[in-house]
Amino acid sequence: MSIEEALLPDRDEPLSAERAYELYWAELLGDEPRFTCVGTGCHAPLTCACLKKAEQTLLIRPYYRSHRLEDHAATCEVVHGRGGEPKERGPDVFEAERPAGHFHRAPARTSASGTASPARVRAAATGTAPSPPRPSHYYRLSSLVQKFLEHRRDKDLDVATVTIGGETTTYDVLFRNVYRQKVADHGQTRAVWWGTASLRATKDGGYYLRFTRPFRHGDELLKPTMTLAAKDIDAYPVRKLLRARLDKIIAEHDGYCVVFTWAKPWMPKDADKPFVRFYIDNLDHIDVRGPDILEELKNTSRVAT
Ligand SMILES: [Zn+2]
Repeated sequence: MSIEEALLPDRDEPLSAERAYELYWAELLGDEPRFTCVGTGCHAPLTCACLKKAEQTLLIRPYYRSHRLEDHAATCEVVHGRGGEPKERGPDVFEAERPAGHFHRAPARTSASGTASPARVRAAATGTAPSPPRPSHYYRLSSLVQKFLEHRRDKDLDVATVTIGGETTTYDVLFRNVYRQKVADHGQTRAVWWGTASLRATKDGGYYLRFTRPFRHGDELLKPTMTLAAKDIDAYPVRKLLRARLDKIIAEHDGYCVVFTWAKPWMPKDADKPFVRFYIDNLDHIDVRGPDILEELKNTSRVAT
């Protein structure tokens, strides 16, 4: 059974498996984090599957699971169900910027009892479950790409909604393949642009990406490029994961990859030789994956072939 949220011993906030994954890769959870169930009165130990895998696909993604059903309390609604209506889900929310202190370690609890989190105390006081289901908030584009792959598999891209940059749209509209789209039509279109690309390391410790399929500009076909500067990577909290993924793609697939980036295509005005680049000022806004997900992505291009 796949479980969505868990608690850490020294944090009060329930963590989604995606969030635990990025905190682990930001080296804030230690080598062997211990998770427990968020259920009422429940302290069942949980494991986060795929926590240490640098790559993600439809089959490889972080989620919690419990060792034994008997570990859960009789009052645990996570495994025993709450009855009533199925949960209503709002749109997923992609936040363009993380809140300040998002990667700071939460202070350890100082109370002598040490076991009851405020959420649990509140729950005990009011007799209700800790918190109602909330829409999912994401900060790393990779989390959103994961949802995109899942919605594609479930064939509901056109109805599944996501709020990004303050606007709510569907996954179908948000994710766009660069292939043969007219770049002039999209200078103002901030979207999750994606496509196959080649990746290489640069001499100064950064990376260079070049899409293998082009935008159209008049009669010309322009393959967009991106540069990830070493100094930006070094300042990025999840750099260990980013570098592990990129280096693995270079080592195992000779740099052949699939790139997703939340950006606008940029073209210089009046250049003799036109070109297209994507610029991002936040490394949370790019996700690079190995070619194994192409099978999962087949037919998602918005351009009929
Ligand atoms: Zn439980």
